[in-house]
Amino acid sequence: LFDALADMAALAIERVRLVEDLDRAERAAETDRLRQALLTSISHDLRTPLSSVLGAATTLRDLEEALPHDAKKDLLATIIEESERLNRFIVNLLDMTRLEAGAIAASLTPQDVDETVDTALRRLGRILTGHRVVLDLPTALPALRLDPVLFEQVLVNLLDNAAKYAPEGSTVTVRGTAEHGQVRLEVLDEGDGLPEADVERVFDKFYRVRKSDSVRAGTGLGLAIARGFVEAMGGTLTAGNRRDRLGAVFTILLPVPAAGHLHSKRAASA
Ligand code: ADP
Repeated sequence: LFDALADMAALAIERVRLVEDLDRAERAAETDRLRQALLTSISHDLRTPLSSVLGAATTLRDLEEALPHDAKKDLLATIIEESERLNRFIVNLLDMTRLEAGAIAASLTPQDVDETVDTALRRLGRILTGHRVVLDLPTALPALRLDPVLFEQVLVNLLDNAAKYAPEGSTVTVRGTAEHGQVRLEVLDEGDGLPEADVERVFDKFYRVRKSDSVRAGTGLGLAIARGFVEAMGGTLTAGNRRDRLGAVFTILLPVPAAGHLHSKRAASA
């Protein structure tokens, strides 16, 4: 009996070891997969805009005399747009690294939501050139404690997606409502929306819904970062589909601070 028990124990230990090895192998494979995805994504996302910049700059240099004024302006616009895209991509990569290192600390100050959204939208003008932007914010939205830099980055990432995944000429709506001690901010577009099974997965790093999405510039990091930033400000970010028509909706919920915790800018300057 003793021998049988010893055998069983040895078998059990062996099995635990096997499971542990498998776990380790799986984790290593997952890390490998992520690293591979990162490399592919980085090479693609750096090279595509860089080729456009190089192409436009070379044409400008070689044909400078021959090109009509408008053609030169178009080439310069390409150079600026593609450089901005490169810049956004690099900002995303750095943000993700900082998030993962736990190095994102929100610096929360009282902000008027409508003013903050307005400023962000004005800065974003270039991203949403092909879309109509509708701001649907009641003037009476309560002030929130926000980190304006993080908040703007969240809006950039959401609006950048609306611009990428909803057709040109369609409308992107930013809607704000106040409810039960929180402010709800929604970004609604008129694209194809999200498969219901993917509404949570889109926040995973490098996850892209459609294979075809990977041919568009993007990192698959934008939403992971946006969620990380919203959470750093004490809120939540979720994805879903519109009820009124086809299109995606991204919802930010942010807590309205208790009266004592909010010294509004107006009160402070009064
Ligand atoms: P990226 O846009 O760089 O691929 P994101 O993390 O911002 O990365 O988005 C992840 C994926 O979620 C996208 O590749 C796309 O498949 C899907 N997605 C994001 N926003 C939208 C949207 N507004 N409409 C439809 N699909 C979207």
